[in-house]
Amino acid sequence: MAFSRKSTGREPKGGFLAFTRTPRRPGNLLARRGLAGRSVGGRPIGLLQRGDPSIEGELLVFGCIHGDECTASGLQPLSNGCPDPASEIFLVPNLNPDGFAATTRLNGRGVDLNRNFPSGWRAIGRRGDPQYSGPQPFSEPETRLAARIVRTLKPRVTIWFHQHSQPQPLVRAWGQSAPSAHAFARLAHLPFRRLPWPDGTAPNWQNHRFPGTSSFVVELPPGHLETDLKDRLERGLVRLARKVGED
Ligand SMILES: [Zn+2]
Repeated sequence: MAFSRKSTGREPKGGFLAFTRTPRRPGNLLARRGLAGRSVGGRPIGLLQRGDPSIEGELLVFGCIHGDECTASGLQPLSNGCPDPASEIFLVPNLNPDGFAATTRLNGRGVDLNRNFPSGWRAIGRRGDPQYSGPQPFSEPETRLAARIVRTLKPRVTIWFHQHSQPQPLVRAWGQSAPSAHAFARLAHLPFRRLPWPDGTAPNWQNHRFPGTSSFVVELPPGHLETDLKDRLERGLVRLARKVGED
């Protein structure tokens, strides 16, 4: 797999997501949780950190961006029941807590967050429409927050979880992200397909804005996440994160 090295380090001490930069010490648990920001409705959006902060080559996981597709928000990438000391994984369990509270795919202002990113952005629909792209790119606090998290953590690989209407899960990616997406599909025993990014989506933006990194989508079946699939996903995340860090 080809993953490029990070060209710069993280931001200096203090500031946004400063808690993620505290070194790991003996007895310093490898599981941290911090506040990354808030939704348009003021709900907290948290960030979890699992693993060793000294490891380069981070994996970033967004468990939910469409508020009615949040079954992956409870994923816990663990190795034998513990945070994995051989990798570093960041999780944003739910980027759209307002949509989740209202059981809608949209955010609190009726915008489809995954059409609000600037790459290929175009005006789609109007407020409340299923794919309303917002008045302009990055008009929503949640998409601006996601971009800030990506710019700060500089993940080598990002995974965005969704749920589609099909009974089978699917890993989908395009272009430079296909190799790592295919690798994740193999590690988690999931089907993989090359599919282009829709306009204004988060992976579309990341793939254009950050050459050499990967950002792809995992579509899960509707409803509750069944145990066997959850186990495969959690193990797959740890294995992928190790691979990313080794490269
Ligand atoms: Zn979705």
